[in-house]
Amino acid sequence: MTVQIAIAGVSGRMGRALIETVAADANCTLYAAIDRPASPLLGSDPGAAWGRVSNVRVTDLPAVALQGAHVLIDFTRPEASLGYLDACVAAGVPLVIGTTGFDEKGKASIAAAACHVPVVFAPNMSVGVNLLMKLAELAAQVLEDGYDIEIIEAHHRHKVDAPSGTALGLGQAVARALHRDLAQCAVYGREGVTGERDPQSIGFATVRGGDIVGDHTLLFAGIGERVELTHKASSRATFAQGALRAAKWLQGRTPGLYDMRDVLNLK
Ligand code: NAD
Repeated sequence: MTVQIAIAGVSGRMGRALIETVAADANCTLYAAIDRPASPLLGSDPGAAWGRVSNVRVTDLPAVALQGAHVLIDFTRPEASLGYLDACVAAGVPLVIGTTGFDEKGKASIAAAACHVPVVFAPNMSVGVNLLMKLAELAAQVLEDGYDIEIIEAHHRHKVDAPSGTALGLGQAVARALHRDLAQCAVYGREGVTGERDPQSIGFATVRGGDIVGDHTLLFAGIGERVELTHKASSRATFAQGALRAAKWLQGRTPGLYDMRDVLNLK
């Protein structure tokens, strides 16, 4: 079966990556392209600018666009995503939400909508990063105490927050596996006379520069050996690939709130 994909936020960076990814997948077709009311792309072929000609025209009417769609993939802004969520419930269309930055009320709305349609909601859709999380847990469980844990991340010069959400997620995964409280044991950077390393601490180091899409290394430094787990993202295609995998996985699912660990069978 060809999965008929609707994409919200087609003028954005992730929207473009999704159009490319859907166009390159023989098992999917671009069914609808949605963007904000003021979008300059309204009425145009969303892929034309990137040589991906289609019969689809960009619309700001999700209720109309979703009729007949098998799934909506949304990478926009929280306030926009919540509107698309309502439209998906009304149309009975499953939803993949990659948008980040929801407050608690927004997250509760997503959970409520998931009682009516299946939803995959994940702050990082990269298959490799989700695997890294699982490997981090496993490594911590096997290595236990006695290995010093450091998390090193690198991102492009425009990133405004540190450490990255993924680095913090790795820290949480490892801390949970070792029954430590990350809020108590995290050390964010070191300078001056720091004293010896607390063996219970989990250290974070941040690099910023150039156009690095996102590198994460989890280091377990023991006596006589080191284990390093590294993931390097080289383009946004990784997130689009993961979102498409989630969109396919949602076909035939019962309503519920899922994340990438469900999609990848990592639970
Ligand atoms: P972007 O700014 O390039 O694009 C945003 C898109 O949302 C645009 O198409 C814009 O027209 C649309 N939009 C903005 N406000 C809107 C509104 N009020 N109504 C309707 N549409 C609106 O951003 P991006 O880099 O493509 O990222 C989009 C989102 O995806 C962000 O929240 C980002 O953090 C998140 N993201 C998540 C992952 C993941 O793996 N889950 C990966 C990358 C980015």
